[in-house]
Amino acid sequence: MNPLIVGLTGGIGSGKTTICEEFSRLGVPVIDADHIAMDVVAKGQPALHDLSRHFGPQILNRDGSLNRSELRTIIFRDQQQRAYVEKLLHPLILQKIREQVESCDTPYVIVEIPLLIEAGWQQQVDQILVIDLPEELQIKRLQERSGLDHLTIEQIMASQLTRSERIEYADQIIDNSGDPGELLKIVSNLHHQFLQLSEMRHR
Ligand code: ADP
Repeated sequence: MNPLIVGLTGGIGSGKTTICEEFSRLGVPVIDADHIAMDVVAKGQPALHDLSRHFGPQILNRDGSLNRSELRTIIFRDQQQRAYVEKLLHPLILQKIREQVESCDTPYVIVEIPLLIEAGWQQQVDQILVIDLPEELQIKRLQERSGLDHLTIEQIMASQLTRSERIEYADQIIDNSGDPGELLKIVSNLHHQFLQLSEMRHR
């Protein structure tokens, strides 16, 4: 079977992990794009070799693993280098996502992609599910979860799309401003919709 691909996205601290757990509980496979993005630059991977050839040894930690904060700093201040890194890594990440999707024998799968829209991957998924909540609540939950200070959180949020920009691309939206207990019902409703959509596709 060729599962329907639901791309789940939302800002930092919007509740992606929490909501993915709910889908998982219903038996839906959840593929984590961030996890895959780390795998493709793990020690010994050809892409890590390419990065160290391009940026020099300062991109590596002493143990030969990728120095993520160094890479983040470089691509934050230089658009051209960001483009280089994306051109190198995005096809590898997409290929791995595809392989994992194809190995799933379910009507649909969730692919959690925090930067789905920022990366321009709208066409890579069949449905875009956006997790939405007011920014004040997002900041409050993030502070409680991570202990990050207000300024750092605002800087991260400023580098991501705004609520309204993200919502423009949504096929479905989860309003995660309520209690966690409400999520069960919301997710279970969406689950049925995605099952129906998948069935319609195969008719
Ligand atoms: P993301 O994966 O998008 O960064 P998380 O799922 O980790 O976000 O959620 C951020 C924080 O908010 C976590 O501490 C989580 O437990 C909490 N959280 C998520 N959804 C809710 C909710 N509906 N009510 C209260 N807290 C929530």
